[in-house]
Amino acid sequence: MTDVRSLLRFDGELSAVDTRSTPGVKSRKKAEVALAEESAELVLLQGMDTCGKDGTVKHVVGQVNPAGLRITSFKQPTPAELKHHFLWRIRRALPGPGYLGIFNRSQYEDVLVVRIHDLAPWEGRYAEINRFEAKAGVTWIKCMLHISPDEQRERLLARLADPTKRWKFNEGDLTERKLWDDYQGAYQDALERCHTDAAPWYVIPADRKWYRNWAVQQLLLQTLRELDPQYPRRADLDIPALEQRLSA
Ligand code: AMP
Ligand code: MG
Repeated sequence: MTDVRSLLRFDGELSAVDTRSTPGVKSRKKAEVALAEESAELVLLQGMDTCGKDGTVKHVVGQVNPAGLRITSFKQPTPAELKHHFLWRIRRALPGPGYLGIFNRSQYEDVLVVRIHDLAPWEGRYAEINRFEAKAGVTWIKCMLHISPDEQRERLLARLADPTKRWKFNEGDLTERKLWDDYQGAYQDALERCHTDAAPWYVIPADRKWYRNWAVQQLLLQTLRELDPQYPRRADLDIPALEQRLSA
């Protein structure tokens, strides 16, 4: 089986990744996802507006038992959230054992949009994020959905043209689009500074939606397979004695 994780693992240079490439697959495929009992996985999705975070959530969720899911979308912090440390709301959203968490945006907004608009002191946050991720007790699958500015233009135009997509259109996205290069620089730094053994980054070429969906699903599948969930062992049970009691 293709090792998608090594193909997509961040290798130091975001701008070198072809957003239309499809590493590890030539056409669409299907697979199922089985959740581990004892572990907690967390798929974290980041990327520029229209990169497909919502679409990826829908696709991954479609493969998983909804009872085991914990999905969180991080928006602009509320006044209540702003009274706390930036990781407060993130920590509260971590999945417990046996759950699959999905973050639609994440702690990385606090070194992306916050850095671009200088909303708060952000320089020390990379190290804080690394310490937090190492101790969070989840297996991180951090995905950057990487699109090109041309693809974003097409998707924004499509939102305007189609009345069923128009509700997603947000004028603020045009302001952020003007800052494309600043964002790419902030992403490059975030990936570089927070690419750790405990929580590596994966860069998903995302101009093709079918590839993006396939790749995130494969990352999840391979992680689950590696965790190799085991039934509880119950070394406390004296099996022969219990069997004898049952046959008496
Ligand atoms: P959407 O994902 O389209 O619903 O938009 C959510 C918005 O919330 C985006 O513009 C994000 O940049 C913004 N956002 C998320 N987290 C933060 C944060 N920590 N600080 C400021 N803005 C944020
Ligand atoms: Mg949006």
